[in-house]
Amino acid sequence: MEPYASTITDLQQRLRTREISAVEATTSLLNRIEQVDKTINAYITVDREQALAQAEAADRKLADNSGGPLCGIPLAIKDVLCTEGLRTTCGSKILGSFVPPYDATVVARLKAAGAVILGKVSMDEFAMGSANENCAYGTPKNPWATTHICGGSSGGSAAAVAADECIASLGSDTGGSIRQPASHCGVVGLKPTYGRVSRYGLVAFASSLDQIGPLTKNVTDCAIMLNGICGHDPKDSTSLKQPVPDFTAALTDGLQGMTIGIPAEYFGEGLDPEVEQAVRNGIARLEEAGAKTVAVSLPHTKYGVAAYYLIAPAEASSNLARFDGVRYGLRDQTAETLQEMYCQSRSQGFGPEVKRRIIIGTYALSSGYYDAYYKKASQVRTLIIGDYKNAFSQCDLLASPVTPTPAWAIGAQSDDPLATYLSDALTIPNNLAGLPGMSVPCGFSAAGLPIGLQLQGPHFAEEKLLRAGFNLEQRLGLSDRRPPLA
Ligand code: GLN
Repeated sequence: MEPYASTITDLQQRLRTREISAVEATTSLLNRIEQVDKTINAYITVDREQALAQAEAADRKLADNSGGPLCGIPLAIKDVLCTEGLRTTCGSKILGSFVPPYDATVVARLKAAGAVILGKVSMDEFAMGSANENCAYGTPKNPWATTHICGGSSGGSAAAVAADECIASLGSDTGGSIRQPASHCGVVGLKPTYGRVSRYGLVAFASSLDQIGPLTKNVTDCAIMLNGICGHDPKDSTSLKQPVPDFTAALTDGLQGMTIGIPAEYFGEGLDPEVEQAVRNGIARLEEAGAKTVAVSLPHTKYGVAAYYLIAPAEASSNLARFDGVRYGLRDQTAETLQEMYCQSRSQGFGPEVKRRIIIGTYALSSGYYDAYYKKASQVRTLIIGDYKNAFSQCDLLASPVTPTPAWAIGAQSDDPLATYLSDALTIPNNLAGLPGMSVPCGFSAAGLPIGLQLQGPHFAEEKLLRAGFNLEQRLGLSDRRPPLA
């Protein structure tokens, strides 16, 4: 097998036995990127030199057996995470020349573990979108059907894993941006509990919702990556002092004694029949593995999209105020006054979706409207949290679709932002409640597009999610399938 096609565990094994070196593995990935990224466009920036230097350092660690499980493993990082000395654009023109002076904590942890950073992968501008079509550097293609979107906003992270252009990647999830592209690209994606993973060095979109997590070829790799990034960080005041278990330890246990809730509201109107069929088949496999299922209800699910599309833009309007041409990135050179400079830099630097969000968010927070919009949305958020509390008094995890439909054709929804917002209906409630959630491949549509099954759990239930995901993966046997790329 070509090294680029490996999982973390395969490659780890081959590196440890000296069958190949980290430099050889990294070279295999860099060549693969050169070969297929012309078609897929998953990467915004590839850094050959730094990647090879990190691989050499990994080889030294491997030689004296001091490397951990990620030592020498080539990874891709969503371009929303700061990387020291490596351009970080957030998919935006406004940060087109921004080279951070420091690493995000997650990146620092991966580097310290000996991982190799191949480069930065595509995303919707400032993580706002569900199709990766809102990116100043082009739209990545779905490796399973290059006429189709790969999902978003972590579209590049999902496409790069699916196309074997990295062994695993990191994404971020504010309203579904890890789980949804993972589902569309047939890879595993996990959004950890809010507070599990440090966001220091993550360019903030909506701070009460954002969370970083892995996208991988299988569930075991997902557990390994999660162990690589989890844990308390004094540099992020929202990071929690929760102990970090070995997430790989209990994967292979069966699901006896586990109760999985099936939320009625996730199987309602607008759900594509092929998605429903694949998800229900996945649920049957979970039952075969020993889980009991119960019907549960999360009655406020339908208000999630409306609440999120007020809360997230409100927070974004504040977070994005820092991009004003003074400290970072693009600055208009023709302005004569400070006011003009702010206005023109932001007008030129931001794309249409980001502008729309800033305007909605500023409006929702303005005095006189605050109670009607932001406060109301926050109250709905509390109701959604209550729904989950109630559901988790009856079950350990929830199983459902991730998205109502498989990936759509590129351009099909470009002039209908509302349709795209509505497609987030099944991932958003999870973020509003700060819960862990995961997408595991569970099938394909007749057209050959991947379909994911979503697992959600109460706070800190990552081990259970991974165990259920692993059981599902074993019983479906889909994780070795690869897209038909030339
Ligand atoms: N699709 C959602 C949005 O556009 C979620 C994005 C995300 O999770 N970053 O806001």
